[in-house]
Amino acid sequence: MSGQQSKTWDVAVVGAGMAGMSAALFAASRGLSVLHVGNGGGLLFASGLLDVLGVHPVAPGRVWDRPWDALAALGKDDPGHPLVRVGADAVRVAMERVMSELGDAGMPYAPAEGNRQVPTSLGTTKVTYGVPRSMVAGAQAFAEGLPTLLVDFRGLREFSACQVVQTMGDRWPGLRCARVEFPDSEALSELYAVHVATALESSATRERLFERVRPLLGDASAVGFPAVLGLSRSGQVHQAFEAALGMPVFEIPTMPTSVPGLRLKGALEAAVGAHGVSRRVQSVVTGIVFDGDVAQLTLHDAAGGQTAAARAVILATGRFVGKGLVADRRGVAEPILGLRVEQPEARDSWHSRRFLEPAGHPINRAGLVTDSVGRPLDAAGNPAWRRLYAVGSILGRQDWMRQKCGSGLSAGTAWAAVDAIAGDLGGPGPVAG
Ligand SMILES: Cc1cc2nc3c(=O)[nH]c(=O)nc-3n(C[C@H](O)[C@H](O)[C@H](O)COP(=O)(O)OP(=O)(O)OC[C@H]3O[C@@H](n4cnc5c(N)ncnc54)[C@H](O)[C@@H]3O)c2cc1C
Repeated sequence: MSGQQSKTWDVAVVGAGMAGMSAALFAASRGLSVLHVGNGGGLLFASGLLDVLGVHPVAPGRVWDRPWDALAALGKDDPGHPLVRVGADAVRVAMERVMSELGDAGMPYAPAEGNRQVPTSLGTTKVTYGVPRSMVAGAQAFAEGLPTLLVDFRGLREFSACQVVQTMGDRWPGLRCARVEFPDSEALSELYAVHVATALESSATRERLFERVRPLLGDASAVGFPAVLGLSRSGQVHQAFEAALGMPVFEIPTMPTSVPGLRLKGALEAAVGAHGVSRRVQSVVTGIVFDGDVAQLTLHDAAGGQTAAARAVILATGRFVGKGLVADRRGVAEPILGLRVEQPEARDSWHSRRFLEPAGHPINRAGLVTDSVGRPLDAAGNPAWRRLYAVGSILGRQDWMRQKCGSGLSAGTAWAAVDAIAGDLGGPGPVAG
């Protein structure tokens, strides 16, 4: 084992998805020293839309205009849900903070008043709360049924404007489509979203594209494009599109791996970096032992092992995809600490008989059980350690995909955990030489 530990961190955050990023951000902005371990690769699959709570109950698929009303209803029906435990105030402030930090990092969000229905590249709509400013005019145009032009680019396979029109046309009669040649792509048979997004950061490329789009606008009051309007400077690129085309412009999120996912990952990384979080992107945590008031973490990367010490730990390692939970024939386990995982009694009951069961499958609600402040329980049913908290999708009793609550769950539980830790530690801890 190489690498001497030189300091005791106030907080070690394990996992770098939405939950871990939020926890690191919140802890650092409270003045706590933060060691953040893990790679946020899963964020690349995100759409950039930030859900708080869109659907409840899941089986009839009731969609809500206001996530706070949905949360009140959830509280009555399912008081053990982790979003209910942290409460609307924590979720609201956590989401405001995340969106504001993303805006500062170059990915601005529209003011969030309630849920919106955002058109998708499949021609469906998605109910969500936090909408990047570059996508919000699509929700408005759809809600008001405005005459709207959708534009796609020959060779960009992940988005077909006419397919969206075909699917949504009956719900959005004024919707039209057009295909244009992307500047300088005449000799190419295929375009890649990241290349297109990067090219659109050049004003010269944009100008040539505008010349091709202007004659197609006709009676349109809004114009939509695939979500490729810039990569790291999407806010500026989107503004330039609106100024040049003289009307609201919106992006439609495309399938993963998506440009908005890259933006989200980049903006969250910039935000945690700006708050002085110390990141170990290439490392994984393979063990944690608790030694009185300090947790000793074992980290591994390609170069070998290291240890690190922290006064509090936030576990944000996700579910099966993130590898925060692992499953085999005997059941579901939490691999770092062997924490108690609430799960169906037998493997036979993991899934409902129908694959597309509207209520979802019991295994989708498996996860860690916590006490009332968010500390996970060990196999004996006691908090595993005084200052160990679990946040995000590793928590049980929720089905974030079907309930459309992924980001609210991640940020809200992270906010509550950091609040408890900051109160407990009473401010930044001493830094040993
Ligand atoms: C396809 C897709 C679409 C999505 N769309 C939306 C959407 O429209 N709206 C929305 O709000 N959210 C969306 N999300 C994101 C979703 O909100 C989050 O995935 C969810 O909130 C869970 O986040 P998490 O941080 O708990 O877990 P994860 O995102 O799974 O992150 C877990 C992290 O922990 C790390 N990790 C695991 N074990 C270790 C270890 N031992 N050591 C170090 N690191 C470790 C993993 O590498 C990973 O970085 C989408 C996600 C996906 C995958």
